[in-house]
Amino acid sequence: MKFAENNNQAAEYLRQAVPLMVKHNIPPNPLNYALWYTYVSDRVPELNAQLDKTLNTYGTCPTMLSEQLFRDHMIKEEIQGAEDIQASLIGLINDLHEHAGNTAEKTENFSNVLEESLDSLSAADEDGEPSLPLESVIHALADHTKSISETARLFQERMHEAQAEIQALKDELNKTRQDARVDPLTNLFNRRAFDAELNQLVSLQGSDLVSSFILVDIDHFKRFNDTYGHLMGDKVLQYVGKLLKEVCQEPMLPVRFGGEEFAVLMPGTTKKEAADIADQVRQKIQAIRIKQKKSGEIISSITASFGVSQLVNGESAEQLVERTDKALYQAKDNGRNQVVIS
Ligand code: GH3
Ligand code: MG
Ligand code: MG
Repeated sequence: MKFAENNNQAAEYLRQAVPLMVKHNIPPNPLNYALWYTYVSDRVPELNAQLDKTLNTYGTCPTMLSEQLFRDHMIKEEIQGAEDIQASLIGLINDLHEHAGNTAEKTENFSNVLEESLDSLSAADEDGEPSLPLESVIHALADHTKSISETARLFQERMHEAQAEIQALKDELNKTRQDARVDPLTNLFNRRAFDAELNQLVSLQGSDLVSSFILVDIDHFKRFNDTYGHLMGDKVLQYVGKLLKEVCQEPMLPVRFGGEEFAVLMPGTTKKEAADIADQVRQKIQAIRIKQKKSGEIISSITASFGVSQLVNGESAEQLVERTDKALYQAKDNGRNQVVIS
């Protein structure tokens, strides 16, 4: 996101942002400054709407939701941009690599031709014919070509090294993302981030805040992978992630719980409301249609089961998850593609 304000305007935004942050008990870190600066500038209406909703629910904006808002509204383009640049860089290196390979091959062929000519000229010399000055010219040419060929080979080798280095960087980037708080496949927060947030929510118990929790598990997903392939399975996970994000907006927090399981944390939501939302998601998953490129077959068999529960006073995070998991298994036992409330 670009900030194009002049100094006076920027200072004015800061003057408005700081008291608001103090009022809502927002930690004064750079991420929050950027968020609240943007909020008072009123330039991203969706950000303001979601932040207002979060404030209404919590009275503040918990760290993880601030991060989510920041990712969704302020650095999305940058993340996408960086990924695009990385992809084109790798494409470029691949092209160069191929090109250099062709060059080396061509010059090597040329070198062989010259060497063969030289051999036949040398043979003629042994038959008693006078040695040709042409021979020394060809010698020089062959040497020259060899050095070209060697240069091209070295170039190719360097390219190969550079390519390996870029791949290593890419792997490292993916690993860092995985190690951190965001699931790289779906771009949702991961289980680790979720645990921290749930603990925070549990610690707010005793206040008036009602919170609910949904566990989602895709039905017969092993069979789906076996039938349509793992890559198609990944696409489904990405699609379900996107769907959850669309339906469960802030202050609800959808996460990839692990494998083919998702969870949604729902502060300010009763279990009845949560079950309605779960059923909306269930219907949208059931409506997924994917056309297989190869066969043209339309896949329409994707469903998921849901466990829903409301956090009760005195319950720990583990107890809540366990209880919701039981409801989920009940939904599986009852025949799948349904919502069960604990
Ligand atoms: P159920 O209806 O009882 O949930 O059956 P299921 O087959 O969905 O459950 P099971 O736990 O037996 O299998 C889960 C499958 O999810 C197996 C695993 O390969 C798949 N899976 C987990 N993570 C991923 C992933 O990241 N990508 C893909 N494509 N598949 C995944
Ligand atoms: Mg499962
Ligand atoms: Mg499953």
